[in-house]
Amino acid sequence: MSPAPSPAAGIYVCEVFSAIQGEAMLVGERQVFVRLAGCNIRCAYCDQPEALERHPGPCLLERRPGARDWEVVASPLPVGTVVDAVWTLWRALPHHSASLTGGEPLMQMGRALELATALHARSIPVMAETNGTLVGAIERIAPFLSYVSMDVKLPSVDGAGVSMATQRAFLDTALGAGVPTWVKIVVGPATDPSELDAAIDMVAVAASGQPGSPPPVVFLQPLTPFAAATTAPSPEQVLGFQERALRHYRRVRVVPQTHKAIGQR
Ligand code: SF4
Repeated sequence: MSPAPSPAAGIYVCEVFSAIQGEAMLVGERQVFVRLAGCNIRCAYCDQPEALERHPGPCLLERRPGARDWEVVASPLPVGTVVDAVWTLWRALPHHSASLTGGEPLMQMGRALELATALHARSIPVMAETNGTLVGAIERIAPFLSYVSMDVKLPSVDGAGVSMATQRAFLDTALGAGVPTWVKIVVGPATDPSELDAAIDMVAVAASGQPGSPPPVVFLQPLTPFAAATTAPSPEQVLGFQERALRHYRRVRVVPQTHKAIGQR
């Protein structure tokens, strides 16, 4: 492992790799994933526990797309090193875009902005996969994003305590900036229907307030059992959730985490 740079000089990254996007609008597309470390909330079903904290440690950089031939370097690392790692994969295979994911990628705002700016300058479309809570951050980074995949959190499923007003402000900001944006809502056996109604209504009102932007598609994502504490909703529940949502808003699809169904990273 190479010597650790000063944390002030770098960005905390868990891994950079090429994989198949398994969720929501870009499902099936090949992307370069940059998993940034650190998250500002704690969802009950989180399947990336190793990405929740920002601390010095190993970072995995894939060298050939899909080969999982990791080079291990020390995180935090210079933004330029991350850009080079993405570029190496990008040049080796046609990819759709790069995904800044996490953790919460907008949490390291200054460095994430540098990274998005550099990728944008190389004509790599950048998607942010975000929990939709950091409103000031999305405002700053939006000009360098091609897509926003935003979670809307339901307290009965996530237990993360995210306010709907904050999520509305985030969605308004992304749509107002003209970035193609969609919304992902994880649903589980304990989903409170009234919370789902409120979330769908929030999206519908936000969409109606942005007549110049295509209305965001809402993706209901059935919870994938990850640990003993998580179970999937029943098929009947999923049908019921979509039916309920469609009565409030027309653009509602159900897409599970397909990468997990096919054993992908
Ligand atoms: S927002 Fe994402 S990374 Fe953060 S705790 Fe929730 S599921 Fe995990």
